[in-house]
Amino acid sequence: MNQLAIHNPANGNLITQVHADDAASVAAKAVRARAAQPGWLAVPLTERKACITRFRAGVVAELEVLAAIMTSETGKPIKMSRNELNGLLGRIDFFLKEVDAQLVTETVFAEGGMTEQIQHIPLGLVANISAWNYPWFVGGNVYIPALLTGNAVLYKPSEFATLTGLAMARLLYDAGVPQDVFITVVGGGEVGQALLEQKIDGLFFTGSYATGARIAQALGPRMVKLQLELGGKDPTYVCENADPKAAAESLADGAMYNTGQSCCSVERIYVHETIYDAFVSAFVETVRGFKVGDPTSEDTYIGAITRAPQLAVLDAQVADAKAKGATLLVGGTRLPGPGNWYAPTVFSNVNHSMELMREESFGPIIGIQKVSGDAQAVQLMNDTRYGLTAGVFTPDEARAKALLSQVNAGSVYWNCCDRVSPRLPWSGHGDSGVGLTLSTYGIQTFTRPKAWHLRSAS
Ligand code: NAD
Repeated sequence: MNQLAIHNPANGNLITQVHADDAASVAAKAVRARAAQPGWLAVPLTERKACITRFRAGVVAELEVLAAIMTSETGKPIKMSRNELNGLLGRIDFFLKEVDAQLVTETVFAEGGMTEQIQHIPLGLVANISAWNYPWFVGGNVYIPALLTGNAVLYKPSEFATLTGLAMARLLYDAGVPQDVFITVVGGGEVGQALLEQKIDGLFFTGSYATGARIAQALGPRMVKLQLELGGKDPTYVCENADPKAAAESLADGAMYNTGQSCCSVERIYVHETIYDAFVSAFVETVRGFKVGDPTSEDTYIGAITRAPQLAVLDAQVADAKAKGATLLVGGTRLPGPGNWYAPTVFSNVNHSMELMREESFGPIIGIQKVSGDAQAVQLMNDTRYGLTAGVFTPDEARAKALLSQVNAGSVYWNCCDRVSPRLPWSGHGDSGVGLTLSTYGIQTFTRPKAWHLRSAS
């Protein structure tokens, strides 16, 4: 049996080794899950909801333990681990409240003995290949509505959040979800690839563009429903009438929360030239106040970089920005180990010739560019292959809405950033992906509409 070694990225220590899957065990799990799905669908919705309600109670009861597990394997500051788990509860509540209405069969026509109905049936066997940065959020966005709507789920946690994934499974089983209805698949990219080869009805992926593109290529000819939630290079524009200090504090948090390892981290900032200096100095002051260190400490704001290879990506973006004339205001280097550490880093005088302003950083580093006005800001915000989120800071609502209407992004923010709501669809434009999670659409996405044409005999 293969072993997967799990390390703590904050100190490099081996936490444990777990059994990993191989191609044969993945295939066997897929067969088991497919066989179990009709039985799960036959369980009344009230009982499926009761399972998820008990799962929610299990998360509440073990919140501290679960937060500690997530922090140990991802380096996420402990307070942010608790925030994620508490945030998950609101998402579960939303799904529980909305799922009934999404599964009601609709009669759309009834006349002269002819009835037309739309029934919402589950996809069947859903595979979920997940990321490590918010494992409870991105996993829960998929497997909770998928299970509620009657699907079986093969869940592959990231190899950097495996203990968290195994804890999810244990809590689901304790809550009454049958062991063949939700099955974890453990391992790295090769195991993910083996999952793609199974007979599945939907593949829901959260991760990088590079992996997403590989998955799309592999599944293209197979007619499997495919959803890809990928990276971003999310911009925000600060207008001349915004409060530079308030905007800087909010955006520094948006850029550096979770050590900058959020899909919707603020990754590019454009500031009107008239308040540029005031904004930059308030931003740097805020970042200097962020405490870097042991993720288990209550006052830590910047934790470890979860994946060691990302350090080289950050180094390269810093070197490229410096070489092209950017001004380094703070940080710009790795911090001493053991573990994977990067100093919170801020550059001014940046431009779009720099990788820092073009490619996802996924770390605590940010560039702030001066702009002459709205037209240039919109042009720069749209100068990207990604389109996950974008924001505008100004007291003027009409102007913010006019600007955000021109920006190509799945979610747009007025005077806020780095925010996800269970009530709103979460989706990307361009290379940020296809499909969506959350909102009522994010429940429907685990079903397919079946059209019934019914003519009564008489
Ligand atoms: P990743 O692409 O490296 O890995 C994601 C998952 O894919 C992991 O479970 C991994 O084991 C698996 N995988 C790797 N190679 C595979 C292959 N060839 N076939 C099948 N599966 C394979 O991404 P990551 O480092 O885990 O996550 C970071 C990325 O995720 C960032 O780009 C971030 O922006 C993005 N993300 C997006 C969202 C969103 O909602 N849009 C949310 C969170 C993270």
